[in-house]
Amino acid sequence: MRYPQTFIEDLRRQADIVRIVGDHVPLKKKGSNWMACCPFHKEKTPSFSVSPAKEIYYCFGCHKGGSVFDFVMEIERVSFPEAIKIVAEKSGVALPQVEDDSRFAERRQDIDEVIELNQWALEWWEQQLDRSSAEAKAAREYLTKREISEETRKTFRLGFAPDSWEALSSYLRQKGATQSQIERSGLVVKKDEGGSYDRFRARLIVPVMDVRGRPIAFGGRALKPDDTAKYINSPETAAYTKGRNLFGLHLTRDEIRRDGFAILVEGFLDLILPYQFGIRNVVASLGTALTPEQAKLLGRFARKVVVNYDGDRAGVQAAKKAIEILLAEDLEVKVLVLPDGADPDEFVRTRGAGEYQKHRGGAQPHIQFVIDQAVKDRNLNHPPEKDAAFEEVLPYIRAVPSPLQKREYFDRVMDELRIVPALRRTFWNSIRTPAASTGNRKAPALNETPTVTEEQLLKLLFGDEGLRSIVVSKLELSDYDDLPTSAIFRAVVAIEQEGLAFNLENLSQRTNGDPVSSNLLPMLLMTEPAGGDSSTAEQRLLAAEGCIDGLRRLKIERRIESLRVEESAAARAGDIDKYNLLQMEQIELTRRRNELVNRQR
Ligand SMILES: [Zn+2]
Repeated sequence: MRYPQTFIEDLRRQADIVRIVGDHVPLKKKGSNWMACCPFHKEKTPSFSVSPAKEIYYCFGCHKGGSVFDFVMEIERVSFPEAIKIVAEKSGVALPQVEDDSRFAERRQDIDEVIELNQWALEWWEQQLDRSSAEAKAAREYLTKREISEETRKTFRLGFAPDSWEALSSYLRQKGATQSQIERSGLVVKKDEGGSYDRFRARLIVPVMDVRGRPIAFGGRALKPDDTAKYINSPETAAYTKGRNLFGLHLTRDEIRRDGFAILVEGFLDLILPYQFGIRNVVASLGTALTPEQAKLLGRFARKVVVNYDGDRAGVQAAKKAIEILLAEDLEVKVLVLPDGADPDEFVRTRGAGEYQKHRGGAQPHIQFVIDQAVKDRNLNHPPEKDAAFEEVLPYIRAVPSPLQKREYFDRVMDELRIVPALRRTFWNSIRTPAASTGNRKAPALNETPTVTEEQLLKLLFGDEGLRSIVVSKLELSDYDDLPTSAIFRAVVAIEQEGLAFNLENLSQRTNGDPVSSNLLPMLLMTEPAGGDSSTAEQRLLAAEGCIDGLRRLKIERRIESLRVEESAAARAGDIDKYNLLQMEQIELTRRRNELVNRQR
């Protein structure tokens, strides 16, 4: 799905970047810019700024920056088309008719329908919880007993479904829903003989939201002690597929991103209570065992996960399963087991958030947890039991995609299980074969870091229009064509030559997809002219010329360096002619280099 370029440009111009960023961070005006503490890294003094005039944002701390679309993509973790949709929505701009696949459009309509009914149901359930009836009172007492505050209840939008077979259905019909819509929403159970009845009765309602905070499904906890099912959940609907969402993520993702790690728990209370006590980087897998889709979703917000499941047997088994799935997504996993088999809900209520954080800080690396579990209740002096322990640990080493990490974990296991060196090699060969998903993370190339000189020259060029036109005429392609920032130089020269507006839009269009550029452009645009107002145009031009000389000198020095290598190779090979030629080139280059050095003084 693609939007026309003209639409994107118009939207960028119409969108109020200050208001859209301001929805996520409290901005304060400072000069012509707006400042805040950065939402993308932890800090105490603001280094995150938004320039409405330049239509960009930039953080001087973590160097994230870009257009209003980049901001939405980064903070909401959505794709470019999705970011456009969100910005358009917030700016009151209608989206152009994009030719949708008709099946796609139909499906979208089904989803919206279910969500609308869910919204009606949730509002109604929230109201039911406030009623003066005895059963509503009992529901509120349950919350009090679990120490869930009024504020928390509102934050998580908890509700109460009264003990009735049709109260919700009639309400939905009153709102205008048809029987078929109600059945498709999953809020009712269809009867074989036709008709339906309310699915959730006499239950505390816990809504499951998507990342945008819309109710897509519900969990219901029984409030009547004689109820056979303690928990029931929504069935799958157009809006809800089991194992695709994480409970609480719409409230906790910003904290997770800032902290760089997430705590993964099982039940909704294990998230709600810690949240109330100020521990807000938590998600819950809720209802099902953790799925690869959930791990992938979590990985969009943090690369480290602390698994904090119940300490009982079932909890340990579930934790081990979760570890395997998280490792396959290349996430770093630690395991927290609370003392006396306590769950997070109970622990935080009785011992407080501080105690919890202390234990969390001591969470074990996953491999240690797995080893401990495998060794527990086994006699390692007894070979069959040792074999069994090894077999149990094996999958957790295999699942690690990084070869280095894998080796480290392997060695640890070998040491702990006291396996003799002769056997280690055999074992290693059996598991070293790379996991299916390797090699999606490239090591950054060494030459991708711009030098101080090129950055300084770019800052001068970006900060002064008059200087730009003079310097561009002095620059030669060879001055910048092998620099990490060559794409930016090329763009600057092109824009200058074509007489276009010097802004992020034109620049990023001409550096399309270059990673160095997308990191640097917002910073360069946001940086005030070097030297401030005190420097004269003359001084800035001298500085720029100094930079160009510096770049040329660096280039020559790099060439001399490689000449030396070639020379010694030629000498070793006895190729005198080649050696002499290289020597001559080196002498000439050294002369030019000295010239440049003298001029710089
Ligand atoms: Zn930052």
